[in-house]
Amino acid sequence: MAPRIEVKRQETRRDLPSVDRLARELREADLGLPAWVATLAARSALAEARAALTAGTEAPDPRQRAAERARSLARPRPSRVVNATGVVIHTNLGRSVLGADAAQAVAEVAAGYSDLELDLASGGRGSRLGAVADMLATLGQAEAAFAVNNNAAAVLLALDALARGREVIVSRGELVEIGGSFRVPEILERAGVRLVEVGTTNRTHPDDYRRAIGPETALLLKVHPSNFEQRGFVKEVSLAELVEIGAESGVPVVEDLGSGTLVDLRAAGLPEGSYAPARVATGADLVCFSGDKLLGGPQAGLLLGRTEVIEQLRSSPLARALRLDKLSLAALDRTLRAQLEGRALELPTLRQLTEPLEVVEARAKELCERLRAIGTDSPGSGALEITLESTRAAVGGGSLPGLELDSWAVCLRPASGAERLAAGLRDAPVPVLARVGQGAVWLDARTLLPERDLDACEAALATVLTNSR
Ligand SMILES: *Cc1c(COP(=O)(O)O)cnc(C)c1O
Repeated sequence: MAPRIEVKRQETRRDLPSVDRLARELREADLGLPAWVATLAARSALAEARAALTAGTEAPDPRQRAAERARSLARPRPSRVVNATGVVIHTNLGRSVLGADAAQAVAEVAAGYSDLELDLASGGRGSRLGAVADMLATLGQAEAAFAVNNNAAAVLLALDALARGREVIVSRGELVEIGGSFRVPEILERAGVRLVEVGTTNRTHPDDYRRAIGPETALLLKVHPSNFEQRGFVKEVSLAELVEIGAESGVPVVEDLGSGTLVDLRAAGLPEGSYAPARVATGADLVCFSGDKLLGGPQAGLLLGRTEVIEQLRSSPLARALRLDKLSLAALDRTLRAQLEGRALELPTLRQLTEPLEVVEARAKELCERLRAIGTDSPGSGALEITLESTRAAVGGGSLPGLELDSWAVCLRPASGAERLAAGLRDAPVPVLARVGQGAVWLDARTLLPERDLDACEAALATVLTNSR
């Protein structure tokens, strides 16, 4: 038996083209294809075909795979797309959208030298975080603040600096996985702290914490469950209660809030717990959250807390490894300035979360009219129905599960199938990402950027209609 399989495998392997030949074929089929793209695509398609032969599984056609790989490699990534999904903080689409000031600052700082660690007045070395730490503390109404590369790094730094080699108490209901493989028990292990679990999956009581506190306890950790929600017979210990318990035995309390705002959007429908200054005001020693979820800024991990605690974080050797890069720092600086100057709702992410329904409806109407104009003129559009529909958008980003926003969408109902139309829109020069449901493609106007996305939607539909002619 074995020799026969061997013979067959040899024959099939010999059938595979060489990397050079496959790359040449790719470039003959597409004259604009850069040589490096053709070579990489050919190499990866052939490696995949060889691996499939070795494993005895069905080998994909290497020519077809190479062409697909080449198309995907030729497109620089990440590149701009249109978010018509209605999910405001969309993890796969880059979460928050920076304000114009922040985006411009990133471009300027990237293209030249900057006073990143320079004090212009003295000409000597300046602090890297500088005003950002002060602005954060002011907005957060905290004694002090610090910022690192992302919130996962903020949690790691806090555990490392405050609890390494000791015990951290966490409720079993908060031992969650956030997505992107951030798992609370694993991050504790990596930080070299011992996890002490208390309570049960659905119910944890104050006395569960009290009983677990001992001489080795370094801190009480509260974790926002983010994209996970429990209902029914559930009980959690609030942050205020946890602060009380911590105070009884002199154990600090840290909260991983996940998503937080620095301006009060509770009146606009965001839940009580999302306003970071209110968390600090409970008396927690440290609160951390992401810069690019509800804050509407760049990827960053923001930490608000008591002066001594922040000082411990700042002097940890890990702080250097987790520090913010200059582009994120520039974006964060401008984002915080906007919030201090009362322009928070001009930040695209915060604007989308709070925009009145009439404004969203007007944008959807305009898009509907523009799409109908090209949709009905085009010969390929015979069976495309375009309507305006009310819908529900979502906050997303694991920020506030179950929190939906009223919205309006343009609904495209093609005879040829909604999935096919959605794929066509993704394949446009500026790809448009939409929702598919009830046999239609839904373009949700809440997440469309008014300055530029309507043109892109129009261009994408025009491309699809031209290609289907
Ligand atoms: C999102 C989230 C994180 C991870 O934050 P990043 O900024 O993605 O690193 C950690 N903890 C909670 C509770 C979160 O919601």
